[in-house]
Amino acid sequence: MTSLEIDWTRCDGHGLCSVLLPTRVGVDEWGFPVLHDPDVAEADLPAARRAVAACPALALRLETPVPLSR
Ligand code: SF4
Repeated sequence: MTSLEIDWTRCDGHGLCSVLLPTRVGVDEWGFPVLHDPDVAEADLPAARRAVAACPALALRLETPVPLSR
């Protein structure tokens, strides 16, 4: 499953991701994002991609695990 990840070394707490993905991201008392559920369902991927593209600090990304091959 694809999941949302936050690079804390980049995030500036603009809070834009919580506005664009309110069902998945909230903010703490300092304005930094809190992921309610990092797993992103297929139907939510377009909105998640828009949030990733809009992050002004390039801190938000989508990760899809790559299966290990033998
Ligand atoms: S939009 Fe980007 S920089 Fe702003 S709070 Fe979300 S992850 Fe952090």
